[in-house]
Amino acid sequence: MDENAPPYRPLTATPEDQPDPARVGVVRMAPGVPFEHFSAVCGASGGFGFGSDFMQAKPGTWYCYEHREEGQQHWKAGTLPAPTVVG
Ligand SMILES: [Zn+2]
Repeated sequence: MDENAPPYRPLTATPEDQPDPARVGVVRMAPGVPFEHFSAVCGASGGFGFGSDFMQAKPGTWYCYEHREEGQQHWKAGTLPAPTVVG
């Protein structure tokens, strides 16, 4: 473990697998912290990403299991909402 790395701090106190309005559509990308992505609908941790392309530094828009269909519909229609990228 890197003793000089900043301590990990979650974005909110809500457990990752539960909805949180403060995390809706949030993608966290920063050196030294885990890559985190939250559902664009409910703010729970999202495992289904659309439009991610790390070679082009595109974080994508993410959806949880419950809302993945909505993401797929946006993807097909070209109407994906932009993620809110935080450090
Ligand atoms: Zn969701």
